[in-house]
Amino acid sequence: NSFLLVFQIKAFDLEQSLQEVTERYEKEKQKRRALHNSLVELRGNIRVHCRIRPLLPFDTAAGHSVLQDRQRNFSEKVAYAVDDETVLVKCSRPGHAPINKTFQFERVYSSLESQDTVFADVAPLLTSLLDGYNVCIMAYGQTGSGKTYTMLGPQLGENFAFSMEDESQLGIIPRATQEVFRLLSEKPPGSYWVEVSVVEVYNNEIFDLLAKDGCGKVFGVKRDVVTTRGGKSDVPLLTHETVENASEFLHLVNKGLQLRVRHPTLVHAHSSRSHLIVTLTITTLVSGDNSGPAWEDEQATQRLNKEVSCTYPQKMRDSKSTSSSRASSPAQAEATEKLKQAKTRLQLVDLAGSECVGMSGVTGAALRETSFINRSLSALADVLGAIAEQRSHVPYRNSKLTHLLQDSVGGDAKLLVMLCISPDQKYLTESMQSLGFGTRARQVQRGQVKKRNFPVQSKAK
Ligand code: ADP
Ligand code: MG
Repeated sequence: NSFLLVFQIKAFDLEQSLQEVTERYEKEKQKRRALHNSLVELRGNIRVHCRIRPLLPFDTAAGHSVLQDRQRNFSEKVAYAVDDETVLVKCSRPGHAPINKTFQFERVYSSLESQDTVFADVAPLLTSLLDGYNVCIMAYGQTGSGKTYTMLGPQLGENFAFSMEDESQLGIIPRATQEVFRLLSEKPPGSYWVEVSVVEVYNNEIFDLLAKDGCGKVFGVKRDVVTTRGGKSDVPLLTHETVENASEFLHLVNKGLQLRVRHPTLVHAHSSRSHLIVTLTITTLVSGDNSGPAWEDEQATQRLNKEVSCTYPQKMRDSKSTSSSRASSPAQAEATEKLKQAKTRLQLVDLAGSECVGMSGVTGAALRETSFINRSLSALADVLGAIAEQRSHVPYRNSKLTHLLQDSVGGDAKLLVMLCISPDQKYLTESMQSLGFGTRARQVQRGQVKKRNFPVQSKAK
């Protein structure tokens, strides 16, 4: 009996110390989160990284589609990563003495750096995402500079799907999705859900790549972007599919990518003539009394409460997914109805090729395409420039692209621009243009960014 008593006392002690440790752990976790967010904040809300891809066989091959007039039969590397913050470009023009130009970014990747290394710098942003900040990661660069490789991974031939076979080659989108679901798995089940949407912006029009017709067949439907009364950008009727894990998510992205080339009205031969935007929306249930274990941080709760919506995703309304760990039964849904919903968004963007295709000789559809791309990319440059300079008016509405991205590039959102550079001499003009874009977008005054608790006004104008 006394044995039992001793054990009981021991068990009680253990339980108590476990509780203490748990409490301390929770406190440390909160501290870590606060530190993490101030670190990310100190770095500014816009950061620009630059990736120089290796020289590739097609750099020398004759007849590469773009820039044929400047085609040379050998390749010469002119863009280098001098260190992990500096790009060096050797500019030599016939009849001129060669000059070296350098550009500084938050991070520069040499051609040898792996997808793993690139993602390691992206991952901290996802921690911010789970803390309630909107995040946008976009790849900028000319066609062939490695945007799709960086965002998705190597493509499977011409069908624009990406390969999942070699994990080490996976790009930012699949890795980020996996990481988001990993981070979410630490939250109480049923307290969140994840939706995906895939859109393409082509000739300043938005196409919903996950929309289905009455028979369930997928086809690209035109959508529009509006500004809500709360000053948020929104795409009415856009298809949001609820997903339970990273592979469901990637399956839908692949479906969207395949449609991108098949849809009859999207008559562009090459994917790089349009912008691709994959959005992951996390809806979290926030209890009204602020006692939810997931959102102890008052600021996070406030931040999240800014955007409250009353719609449940389709799957939940139908309560079809019976095996779901989320609140999917009608009773559960009713119980959670009193909770507030907070949405945060991760937007992953593969921009259209930024090459300055000579306008001479280009006519008809191709000319129209080119001028739309030029206009949307310069609207993007204007928006990023305005944010970097902390101007009170940011011209989001000058193009559908910037209007669509408004909530994940402006305000307290975190933006990462990944400049992609082809190192070969024949792409010098395009590389210089991309480096100029990145330099303009960079927030140089580190630590001087608006703090998130300042009201962010007039950004929707
Ligand atoms: P973009 O999307 O900018 O037009 P891609 O991502 O399609 O360019 O890249 C063009 C080619 O270069 C592809 O064959 C791709 O696999 C390859 N490539 C791009 N970046 C890298 C890299 N860092 N390492 C190896 N191959 C790369
Ligand atoms: Mg591409």
